[in-house]
This record gives sequence, structure tokens and C-alpha cells, in this order.
Amino acid sequence: MKIQFQVALAPYSTLRIGGPAEYFCEAKTREELIEAVAWAIKGQLKIHILGNGSNTLIADQGVKGLVIRNLISAIKILETQKSWPRPKVQPRFQLLQSDPKLKELSYDETKYPPVLVRLDSGAYLPRAIFSLISQGITGLEWFSGIPATAGGATYINLHGADKFWSDYLVEAEVINRQGQVKTVPLDYFNYDYDRSILATSGDLVLTVTLQLRRGPAKQALEIAKFWQLKKSHQPQRSLGCIFQNLSQAEQKQLKLPTPSIGYLIDKQLKLKGTQVGQAWIPNQHAGFVENLGGATQKDVLTLIKKVKTKAKTQLGLDLKLEVVTWQN
Ligand SMILES: Cc1cc2nc3c(=O)[nH]c(=O)nc-3n(C[C@H](O)[C@H](O)[C@H](O)COP(=O)(O)OP(=O)(O)OC[C@H]3O[C@@H](n4cnc5c(N)ncnc54)[C@H](O)[C@@H]3O)c2cc1C
Repeated sequence: MKIQFQVALAPYSTLRIGGPAEYFCEAKTREELIEAVAWAIKGQLKIHILGNGSNTLIADQGVKGLVIRNLISAIKILETQKSWPRPKVQPRFQLLQSDPKLKELSYDETKYPPVLVRLDSGAYLPRAIFSLISQGITGLEWFSGIPATAGGATYINLHGADKFWSDYLVEAEVINRQGQVKTVPLDYFNYDYDRSILATSGDLVLTVTLQLRRGPAKQALEIAKFWQLKKSHQPQRSLGCIFQNLSQAEQKQLKLPTPSIGYLIDKQLKLKGTQVGQAWIPNQHAGFVENLGGATQKDVLTLIKKVKTKAKTQLGLDLKLEVVTWQN
């Protein structure tokens, strides 16, 4: 493991924004990841971990402490097991119902035998999903096209169609703030929409074990390709949706046809196309913020403030951020 100093972080975020990390390293093995954490703890440094940087808005001034870029990516198929209990996370959107093609392709996964799969936290989902399907393992196709690692997905409780990452997670290995590795069950994560305990605990995810299925691989492949194509039309130099979708209560109160934040920003707030510096709300998807070139975190935060202020004054709504903001 090689520690570097003052490494620019912008290339490691899909938004291409971010100043230097005081200390930086790439972990390519499990041992390197554990070693990097121990090194930072010894030096009393703040620890940050980056997966694919597709949900992280990094400060222009960079960040203090050690930034670990997580590149550990093994996938292991474990033996088939019984079904595990799942928590109840209330979906906020029902894409399945509104998209006839997906409705036609959806299937009852509980009919198929379960199989446990362990992913290293740096596994890049767009690759892992197709690799699993090619081995007859289904379930993650709903997240296809999202540029996430398994660790980032575990942190935020990734959502695609009407599925959540927590619908599949069984347990995970985490490194705690003392540098100890422990195995924790699904309950530990205290999952909600776009929220997990990781935001406050500071644990780093080492591996995740998911309950998937030996399911209909051909159908899963079609779903994965459908999503991949759909997501490829979204602005890639972005962090996905900046704000969370609306809750069912908010949608009902405002009498909106959808809880989609993109719809709200476009049709209700009429902010599509708004630009601050080199950051703008793109025409393809008003829930996103795209970097047109040299955008800064300051540009993005100013744009966020504009949207939040208008939502509050015009509709009485308190919009919640979906992205993670790293400050200096
Ligand atoms: C074009 C585009 C489309 C998107 N579409 C969707 C979508 O449909 N649904 C959706 O939910 N999201 C979507 N996103 C957002 C994003 O891809 C997800 O939030 C994803 O989970 C982030 O994964 P990451 O590995 O890039 O995380 P990062 O941005 O690297 O990290 C995000 C947070 O997770 C923490 N983290 C990362 N790895 C670990 C780890 N191993 N242990 C502990 N903490 C960790 C980081 O410290 C950071 O706080 C989209 C983004 C883009 C750019």
C-alpha cells in the first residue's frame, strides 16, 4: 500500500469536482484496506473512503486526513441457504407500475432457490451484475446501469426500480473506528430510504453478503440491458439525483402524479436549465446537476440552495439531499 500526498480527487468523482486529499491511497486487496485504516488510526487522521465517487460532492479545498480509493473487487458464490427476513423500507416511487416494459419483465423472485453471494465492497456493480447473470444468478438486475460500488450501495441503500439494496443484503464485514473487523447482520444498518447507520458510525464496509437467486437468467439479462440503456441516457458527469424523491405524504399533499424530484424541479419549480458557473440542471433530467466543464463545489452548492429556497417558499417543502457532501 503506497500513501501519496496532496492527490486531486476530481478524477475519482463522476462529477469531476474535488480538491486534493491530504493523504491518499488505493486499496487493491482486503489486507491493504485494513492496513490503510490502521495507518490512519495510528496517525490520528480522519478516514474517508471512496467507491466510484458517484454520490460524493467533494470540497474544492480538498479534504483533510486519508482518502482510501476502494478497488477490492472479488465476487464469491457461497452455498445456497434458506431465505432471510427482510426489513421494511417504504419505496418512494413505483417505476415498475408506470413502465409497461418493466412490468411485463418483472417476476416473483421468491419462486427461485436462494444463493448467497459475497461481494468485496469495491466491486463495481455494472460489471458484477452481468457477471452474476452469466452464472445464472439473478436479483441485482434492477440496479443495472448505476455506476456504484457495493460499498457505496451499502452506505446509501441503493435503489433501482422498486427495489432497495436492503432487499438483498444479509450481512457485511465492516472495519470499525478502532480498526477491528466484525461481521454485522442486516439489522445493524438501520436502513431507511437513502440512509444507513454508516453515515454516523464511520464503519467502512469490507465485504457484503447478499441473498440472490438461481433465477430466470434470460429475463434478468433483458431487465439489466433495459436499465443499462435507460441510465446511459442520463447525464454521466453528475452524481445522479441531488435530492431525495418526495415522500408519499408530500406527494399526496401537493397532489402530484409522481414523487419524482425531477418532475418537481421541472414542472413545479420550473428550474430546468438553471445554471450557476459551470454547473446546471440539465434538460435530460431535472433531478440531476451536471458539470459542464470547470464547475466547482461552490457552484453546485449555490444551485442546490436555489432549488431548496424555491421549494420552501413556493411549496413549503424541505428538500433532503441524496448526495454526500465532503467538506474540508
Ligand atoms: C448517472 C448516475 C445515475 C445514478 N442513478 C442512481 C439510481 O438509480 N439509484 C441510486 O440509488 N443512486 C443512483 N446514483 C447515485 C450513486 O450511483 C449511488 O448513490 C451509489 O450507491 C454510489 O456508489 P459509489 O461507490 O459511487 O459511492 P461513493 O460516491 O464513492 O461514496 C458515497 C458514500 O458512501 C461511502 N462509501 C463508499 N464506499 C464505502 C465503503 N466501502 N464503506 C463505507 N462507506 C462507503 C463514501 O464514503 C461516501 O460517503 C446515480 C449516479 C449517477 C452518476
